[in-house]
Amino acid sequence: MTMLELQGISKSYGDHKGASEVSLVAPSGSRTVIVGPSGSGKTTLLRLIAGFEAPDAGAISLDGRHLHGAGGSVPPHKRNIAYVAQEGALFPHMSVGDNVGFAMPRQAADRARRVDELLEQVGLPAGFRTRRPHELSGGQQQRVALARALAQKPDLMLLDEPFSALDTGLRETMRTMVGDVLRDAGIASVLVTHDQAEALAFADHLVVMRDGRVADAGPPQRLYEKPADIETARFLGEAIVLPAEIRDGVAKTALGEARVRHDDAVRADVLVRPEQVSVSESGTGALGRVLHRSYRGARWRLEIDCRDGGVAEPFSVDVPATVDVKPGDLVRLGVSGEVHVFGL
Ligand code: ADP
Ligand code: MG
Repeated sequence: MTMLELQGISKSYGDHKGASEVSLVAPSGSRTVIVGPSGSGKTTLLRLIAGFEAPDAGAISLDGRHLHGAGGSVPPHKRNIAYVAQEGALFPHMSVGDNVGFAMPRQAADRARRVDELLEQVGLPAGFRTRRPHELSGGQQQRVALARALAQKPDLMLLDEPFSALDTGLRETMRTMVGDVLRDAGIASVLVTHDQAEALAFADHLVVMRDGRVADAGPPQRLYEKPADIETARFLGEAIVLPAEIRDGVAKTALGEARVRHDDAVRADVLVRPEQVSVSESGTGALGRVLHRSYRGARWRLEIDCRDGGVAEPFSVDVPATVDVKPGDLVRLGVSGEVHVFGL
């Protein structure tokens, strides 16, 4: 079933396009992530969904309910959509309790109990109720912002780069916590990020934006393994793009032969992810030279040059730290698994 649907949404700021003919469908109950470089139109899209801005063209619906389109526009406060911004979204002059309880009637008998419940849900002690936002760390402030959004009992939670101000370890903790809280509360979400690792980790439906347009959308694994185009492939991870001769389900590349899903005899570019490349100190594979290695603890990241073998650009591959190759060494390369063919 469809939860959120955008049809042909466009929004310009003067002669600058924020969103161009964006169509997307987020499945019911899904965790949708919109990922793209800075300036690609992610915040614009969230603000249009929330109703803070009106599109120039197109239609938006949520759970079959029409939010914007030919029939008019539902105002933001009637959409039942919550919005968590990047940072600094708390009311600084109010206590944590009043921030969280903002949307609840002041006289409600169970207000204090409900606030405590929400604080507990986001992993904060009830004692934080009387604190002011400036007495909290960045991560704690984001927890309060989430509790305040949950208090609205929204049908949809919009999260605009909510973890980007936090350091790496805390980001992961917060991401897991937010995912768990939303799942337990049965609230669907759309999260925006410029961080591809975060996008792949959080999404069960992923939308890649570029220049105000949807470049690709689908399950994260499909996008990583079989992206619509080379730019999307490079945006989602390290990508080695090789010209290949394809015949009978096999692609012949400079790094060796790999399986493909196509039987026709054609020449096309294929995508090899670095984890598909094997590196050994001896053997019969294509010859490459180690240009550089950087230490990653458990692994070395090697930069390998195989231009003589027909690979246009040097590429990076991780190998276990037990593999003892140094810059200048020659190595043997191979490809394993199935590779994706672009444009077929
Ligand atoms: P993202 O969130 O992906 O970084 P935005 O949606 O904020 O990108 O912005 C997309 C483009 O629209 C950018 O080029 C930005 O400068 C422009 N833009 C966004 N909001 C406005 C606005 N209120 N006025 C003018 N231009 C805007
Ligand atoms: Mg933004």
